[in-house]
Amino acid sequence: IDTYIRAPLQRARSKVYAKEDFDMGKKLASGGFGTVYRATLRDPDGGAPRDVIIKKAKEFGEAEAWMNERMTRVAPKAAAEFVTAFSEGRGKVGDSTWLVWAYEGDDTLADLMQKKEFPYNLEQSLFGRELNIPKGPERKAAILRVALQQLLAALEKCHAVGIVHRDIKPQNCILSERDQCIKLIDFGAAADLRVGINYVPNQYLLDPRYAPPQQYIMSKQTPRAPPAPVAALLSPVLWRLNAPDRFDMYSVGVVLLQMAFPVLRQDNTLVQFNKTLAEQYGWNLNAWRRAMERRDEKAYKEGFAVLDADGGWDLLCQLIQYDPFNRLSATAALAHPWFGVVTPAAVVSGT
Ligand code: ADP
Ligand code: MG
Repeated sequence: IDTYIRAPLQRARSKVYAKEDFDMGKKLASGGFGTVYRATLRDPDGGAPRDVIIKKAKEFGEAEAWMNERMTRVAPKAAAEFVTAFSEGRGKVGDSTWLVWAYEGDDTLADLMQKKEFPYNLEQSLFGRELNIPKGPERKAAILRVALQQLLAALEKCHAVGIVHRDIKPQNCILSERDQCIKLIDFGAAADLRVGINYVPNQYLLDPRYAPPQQYIMSKQTPRAPPAPVAALLSPVLWRLNAPDRFDMYSVGVVLLQMAFPVLRQDNTLVQFNKTLAEQYGWNLNAWRRAMERRDEKAYKEGFAVLDADGGWDLLCQLIQYDPFNRLSATAALAHPWFGVVTPAAVVSGT
């Protein structure tokens, strides 16, 4: 851990911060693995104070810092801007790690989805103005397409460097007010397969609402990470054999489902949906759809219309697949015809 995590971290940081440099603000979240606060970073290198987010991580803090350092270097706009990390004590086992990010904005995709006007509340950020299309399925599809495209582009960059996020869900997608796009947050459950960090997945880390049926990124036959340098050589091979990136792709499918179907934005409905899809339909989304249509389920009607506009349904079906190898990769999903549909310039510019 010392060689592979601490050394690169210290090299990358221009200035070392400590707890005293921050004015702590409101608590935003508190989960099993840490607590998240808003805060102000006083006097960053003599500059103006900065709005930041601070997470006090109980476990896996060093690994989360590692993932963020790597994302900052290889794909700065794909994830929330990482500022720094420091240890509370003297680096002893059990010390908390503090992680600091730039404050990106007020709303995650989950916050926006809970509002009645979703997805229209994404328009200003994603297009810079309201779309000039009558409200309805076609306009919703135009917005969802761009939102999903941004999520996929961010994931494509993660996967390209060997990072599997493993906790893709609307709560972990932030709408950046600074950059007017969707970025990934919360690499607390991520795995870096090139160097073997967090390679053995902890099942209790996974959110069952969004995790694929297998729940593991690697097949159970590859039980343990080899020592880091060996992993670096082997992992391209393992990657091809196991397609660990497809773990995230199933979760992307669930995110698209929730964006399209308002009823699935409620926790209990989503849990019930997952159970039904598995037990009654064997993860066959088309079979589920036929049943919903036969029963004339009003709650799903508009969602089907949104996805039928230009082939979104086909994309969704290629993400929600039982077999990881049948799921599209992020790169393949971005090449799907759904994204080939161009929102006319006149519509975006309003001329
Ligand atoms: P947890 O481990 O508690 O899920 P997250 O990293 O997901 O921690 O952060 C919790 C919440 O804090 C997020 O859902 C989001 O509302 C907010 N948040 C996290 N990072 C940022 C950021 N960079 N900018 C703005 N809000 C953030
Ligand atoms: Mg989170």
